[in-house]
Amino acid sequence: MIDTTEIIKNRVGILFVTLDSLRYDVARAALYGGRTPRLAEVLPGGVWEERRTPGTFTLPAHIAFFSGFLPKLPQPVQPPRLWECRPPAFKTVDAGTFVFDAPNLLAGLAQHGYRTVCIGGVTYFSRETPLGSVLPAMFHEDHWRPEFCSPDADSTRHQVDHALTIADKYRNRPLFLFVNVSATHVPHGHYVGRSDDSWQSQAAALAYADEHLGRLIHTLTSTRSWLVIMCADHGDAFGEDGYHGRGIAHPTVLNVPFAATLTGPGTTLTGHGPSPRH
Ligand SMILES: [Zn+2]
Repeated sequence: MIDTTEIIKNRVGILFVTLDSLRYDVARAALYGGRTPRLAEVLPGGVWEERRTPGTFTLPAHIAFFSGFLPKLPQPVQPPRLWECRPPAFKTVDAGTFVFDAPNLLAGLAQHGYRTVCIGGVTYFSRETPLGSVLPAMFHEDHWRPEFCSPDADSTRHQVDHALTIADKYRNRPLFLFVNVSATHVPHGHYVGRSDDSWQSQAAALAYADEHLGRLIHTLTSTRSWLVIMCADHGDAFGEDGYHGRGIAHPTVLNVPFAATLTGPGTTLTGHGPSPRH
């Protein structure tokens, strides 16, 4: 079990990656098909954990994540949360859960000396609109460029290159590095040579992103330990039951892949999951 309280007390770097719109079934099939070998090396037990997201589109999902509510297991009993806002006096919190005494995780980590940096992907992180400024404004600094966004077929390379530059800049202080991977968000038909988007093209987008995500994690953890958390913010419907898109309470949107692991020199490889079903 990951002890986030101890991790933050020891000022360990935290990498939080959201693979935007990535469905659980797509992530699992790509993994089992051998199309994401770099991620397979990092995932605890070599598998994605199936979870249910608290938000059906980018804004509410990330607000929930940064408020302490990560995707939950599809079962009544839940493991301790990784982080949680200070609760009312009557409620007890697991000792391994990092409790932040602030309105959100980013402000809470800042109180513990962390620099919080956002590498944006989809337009909810672009500051192009008032709503697109809500999430980036929660960080000390945020970075977004058009080439970080899904229409660019090499978006993950650009995002990872920039993330590594940031990590090097802050190599001597604790860093919370957030990356919203846009490649798995529509449009991704171009990864299979089509103008429309599908289950197959999202899998191809993930297979493309695998190399760069592997490079990011391998580079960060080659010299020191990091807590690495990866999940989707929500899924995407590609015509199932007549539904298309997100923002709907459909299984294709609610079921998301999740992984959390403490990895790097001097750490015992550990992680959340896969947890037993009850
Ligand atoms: Zn999203």
